[in-house]
Amino acid sequence: MPSFVIMEKCDGCKGQDKTACQYICPNDLMVLNTETMKAYNRDPQMCWECYNCVKICPQQAVDIRGYADFIPLGASVTPLRGSEDIMWTIKFRNGMLKRFKFPIRTTPEGSADPLGGFDEGPGDLKGVELMTEPASLGCDVPKK
Ligand code: SF4
Ligand code: SF4
Repeated sequence: MPSFVIMEKCDGCKGQDKTACQYICPNDLMVLNTETMKAYNRDPQMCWECYNCVKICPQQAVDIRGYADFIPLGASVTPLRGSEDIMWTIKFRNGMLKRFKFPIRTTPEGSADPLGGFDEGPGDLKGVELMTEPASLGCDVPKK
């Protein structure tokens, strides 16, 4: 089930150039209605429920109604993102609550090395290797 915006909670990220949900959606689905200053998912069928918009929204205004086998009707899964960890609140249909807290980073903020210490590869977009391969595979790869 796709994401949807709870209109009462959305403040349009206070009119910034790009809202947090627009910035984070890998599928470019979130749009801001500049008249109402409310965001919405412009193509729910294309949403792959990655939860990025749910986790980044500073107002907790985005929700995903999960599939019934995962989240039966009346239940909910709500993330609350901090700088070091994320808290998931699971609400069951009978009202029972459970909370799980997981760390979300292993390095200080802003210090992540995207290449993990490896040099960039040959940059051959048509090649079959990923950017840091073959070095990052950790084994010898026969030359083609
Ligand atoms: S990130 Fe949240 S508050 Fe900001 S525009 Fe999107 S839904 Fe609204
Ligand atoms: S759940 Fe993921 S794919 Fe769907 S709108 Fe949010 S960020 Fe985009």
